[in-house]
Parts: sequence; structure tokens; C-alpha cells
Amino acid sequence: MKSFKEIYRSSENKIAGIGAAPGIIIGEAYLYTKEKLQISKADIEDIEKAKHELVEAITKSKKELNKIFSIAREKMDEVRAAIFEAQLMILDDPILLNEIEKRIEGERKSPEYIVDDEISKYQSKMILSHESYMKERAMDIEDIKQRIIRNLQKKRWESKIDHNVIVVSETLTPADTILLSRNKVLAFVTDHGGLTSHAAIISRSLNIPAVVGTHNSTSQIKDGDEIIVDGFYGYVISNPTLEQKEFFNLKRSRLLELQKELEELKDEKAITTDGKEIKLYANVDVSGEIEMVVTSGAIGIGLYRSEQILNELGEFPSEDEQTKIYSKLSSRIYPNSITIRVFDIGGDKFRFLDFEEPNPFLGLRGIRLLLENPALFKAQVRAILKSSTNKNVKIMLPMVSTLKEVRESKKIIEECKLELRNEKVKFDKDIQLGIMIEVPSAAVMAKDFAKEIDFLSIGTNDLIQYLMAVDRGNDLVSELYQEFSPVVVRTLKHIVDDAKKAKKPLSLCGEMAADTLAMPLLIGLGIESLSMSPSTVPYAKRIIRSCDYKKMKRLADKCNLLHTEEEVKETIEKFFTDNKITRTRQII
Ligand code: PEP
Ligand code: MG
Repeated sequence: MKSFKEIYRSSENKIAGIGAAPGIIIGEAYLYTKEKLQISKADIEDIEKAKHELVEAITKSKKELNKIFSIAREKMDEVRAAIFEAQLMILDDPILLNEIEKRIEGERKSPEYIVDDEISKYQSKMILSHESYMKERAMDIEDIKQRIIRNLQKKRWESKIDHNVIVVSETLTPADTILLSRNKVLAFVTDHGGLTSHAAIISRSLNIPAVVGTHNSTSQIKDGDEIIVDGFYGYVISNPTLEQKEFFNLKRSRLLELQKELEELKDEKAITTDGKEIKLYANVDVSGEIEMVVTSGAIGIGLYRSEQILNELGEFPSEDEQTKIYSKLSSRIYPNSITIRVFDIGGDKFRFLDFEEPNPFLGLRGIRLLLENPALFKAQVRAILKSSTNKNVKIMLPMVSTLKEVRESKKIIEECKLELRNEKVKFDKDIQLGIMIEVPSAAVMAKDFAKEIDFLSIGTNDLIQYLMAVDRGNDLVSELYQEFSPVVVRTLKHIVDDAKKAKKPLSLCGEMAADTLAMPLLIGLGIESLSMSPSTVPYAKRIIRSCDYKKMKRLADKCNLLHTEEEVKETIEKFFTDNKITRTRQII
């Protein structure tokens, strides 16, 4: 049996990327595009072929519209559903189709150009009409035009996913990822994006394998191709050979076996071989994930990314709506605790501003935005307080960079408490307040911050991007996004020491917590509490239960003196071999 390395070495049909969510999937590619379609005005040689392609594209468009029409009739009133019926009638209009065919024959230009030009002529006439009804119909016609052209280019749209597919896309926003996951998506492959881009994090949360940052998978893979996605090593194989299929099918079944074994660890503690217990919490990004937390064996929610509600809803929920969401979560997780992080809007997350910031990651993000919009902030704090009556809710502030922000936030929280007291609404008066350490300024002054709040949580995803000055989602600089940089090691050590001096609890909730390679280093550095996507908790538990704390401490001390990322990585890898500890991808 060949190893992964040997298989990849001998595979010419592989596309390399970054393994963003673990798992192995074999399935059909679905080229997902939202970009404006580029129309080619190329000359054509074979007129019959072009006419045939036109007929095919129109038949496909009709099929799609028929399906949409029948769903629309179920979900909407007759009048609105009729829009699709009208669109179908246009596709059957013989005059229009004859005209397009005639022009293909006469002008010998690509069908997509003729379709675009001919239908646009109709549209212009309608837009010039004084009747608003006609203007609206022009929009419907735009939809048909785009549909035919897209089918001529053999591209697809999200709305059509009706069977199990692997979504291949240039890029995905967090909202795209959530919307697509509601369809039958087996895995995600993207040209752009890094390990800690929010779309990657959501894939992990949803337990959907993903490979990101492949640069060119959308040009290498065709819609409908059979592909293999390896979310462990970060490779995609297009049109696999029989040998490759056999290899990955076997790995897949071994993985399923391992997952079953890991389930048995659910009620066991994450305890090292020499008796040190590490607390494992879960990060929750999407509402459905709470059930996974309960079954993962995590002892609570260490990070609830509340801004995800905005991605799911597409708008701000009211205070009452938020109260309902938070109360449901806190009751479901009780007697364990939940740390609700207030909206971290900005960066690559939910957009709030109606203008583009030149540097969104360095802009009005997280606590900065909330302090600028106190009404928004207060509604959320009030909702969190109202859901805290079980005394298992904590509040956490994202993107803190100055003490002033902490003090202002505390003032707002106190105002909310006072209001609720006056309204005779119950809440946990001792509710704990913590901050994320994810900006270098907060890391440097961790002790000063720690003195003013109840707990700290390191957000390595952002901390690394800001320490190394690399956009966490930009695959062009992903080489510089160095989780194992000595800078990261030493900064983590400094934060741990500062938290100890201030006698405040510290946890780490970035994606690094879920990297099994990083685990001995983090624990050795003195981090006693980790929060990660629920699906990765069992893997982490397995590693912790096979490591010795004293040895991890020695490993961390050694890494703290090293000078390059390579040295740190090599030292940790040696620790794994010397101690005969295996990582998942080595076992399957
Ligand atoms: C982080 O930055 O590490 C973190 C946990 O926050 P997010 O990934 O949501 O920015
Ligand atoms: Mg962050």
C-alpha cells in the first residue's frame, strides 16, 4: 500500500492547496460562480455546432426554470410565481430564437455574443418604456439572458444544487459557505483563501471537508468532473485513476473507523499521561452546531461567534430576537458555560458600512465598530444579560487594542445593567467579562488588560496575521502566515506569563488550538484551556491523552529559543516521532 506522499508524488492530476477542513471526499465537481459573466465575441468556424450548443443551452435553461417555477408555486403566491412562467414563455418565443439563429449564421460570431446582443436590444426598448411594468420585465429578461449565456459557458449557479456535489469556486464568503451548506454540499474547493479565512472556519464548523488557496482549481476542473478532495493534506485530484480512487476509498473507510473509536473518548477527560487536565471547549459559528458541541465531549462553549447570526439572517436581529437565541444556547449548554463574543463585524466578516474601507482588517472592526454604534452594542449586551440568569454566560470583546476601549465597554455594560435593574429584569450580576488577545498591542500589555477584566482568550487567527502583517485570507502570502514562527511562540509565552502574574484565567480559541501539531507546544507553554471547532475536539483529546506534560514543557522551552519557523516545526515533529505519537493523517 502506497503512502499519501507516494500517491501525491506520482500524481500529475493533483492540484495543491491548503487543507482547511479535514476529511476525504470523492464526488462530482460543481463550478460555482457569482461573477459577472464575460461575453466572448469570438468568430466561429462551425455554425452547426454553435446552433446545437444554443439549443442545448436553451433546453437546460427551460429545465432549470421549470423547476424554479414549480418550487415558486409551492412557496409563493400565484402572482409572483407567474414571473417564472413568463420567463419560460420567452424561451419558447420562436421569433426571438429564429433571429438569434439567423444572426449566428450570418455574422459567424459566438452564440453567447449574439444572445447577449439580441436580448439586450429587447431590454433597451422595455427600459425606455414609460410603464413601470415593462421596466420590471426588462429585469426578468436580464435573468433569462444571463441564464442562457451561463448555460452556453457551461457554468452553474447555486440555486440549482439538487444532488451531492463538491463546490469548486474562486472564492467563498462566509455567507456563501453557509447558504451553500444548506444544499447538498460534500466538500469545498476554492482558488483563494487561507486556513483561517472565515469561510474555512465555517467549513470546519459544519464538518464539511475543504481545500482552499488552490490558485487555479476553477480553471483546471470542469463542471461535472469527478474529483477527490483531501482536506488533511490539502490536495484535489481531478478525474482520478482507478488506483487513486481505490487508495482514497480505503483511506475514507479507515477515517470513518477512527471517528467511531474517537467517539468512545467523548466522556473521558483530556488528561496527559502524567495527570494534567486540559480543558477543551468548543467554538460555535453556526446555530445548528450546538448539538455537535454536546456530542463532541467539549465541556462548554469557549467562543460563540455571535456575528455569524448576521451572516445567517443577512440583517441585525432585534434585542428580543437576540435574547431568544442566546437564552436557547445557554439553556442547551447548561450546566456548562458559554462565552458569547459580541459582534466582531468587519474584516472579511459581515459588512456593515455602506462604503468600502481601504484596509478592512485594520479598520472599523470588532469592538471599534460597536463603540461607534452604542445602540447596536447596548441591544446586544442587554440581550446577553437577559439570557444570563442561569449564571453560565460570559461576555467577550473582540479586537481590543487599547485599555480605553475596555473601560468604555465596561461603562456601557454597567449602563445596561442599571437599565435592566430599573426595568426589574433578572440577570447574572456577576457576569464575567473577558477580552480577546488578538492585536499585538493587547498582547504586549496583556498584564495591564488582565487586571481590568475577568479572563483572557488568545485569538491566534488574528494575532498571527497582525504579528506577521499577513492577511489571513490571502493565499499569495500564506507562506508568511506562520503559526510556528518564533515570534508567535515567544508572544504566546509572554501572554501566558502575564496572565499568570495577574492571576487571570487564559484560554486560546484560534484555529491553532485545533492543529494537533501545535498542541504539545501550546500545552507546554502553559495554556490550560483550548477552544476549537467541535468536530476537532476528539482528535485533540486523543493527542493530549498520549502526551506527557513535563516533556511538553521541555519542548516549549526549547522552541522558545529557536529562530526560524522551520526549526520550531522540526523540533515539534521530532517530539512526535521520539514519543511515538501519531496524528490522524498518519493513522488513516
Ligand atoms: C481569532 O482571531 O483567533 C479568533 C478566534 O477570532 P476570529 O477567527 O473569529 O476572528
Ligand atoms: Mg479574531
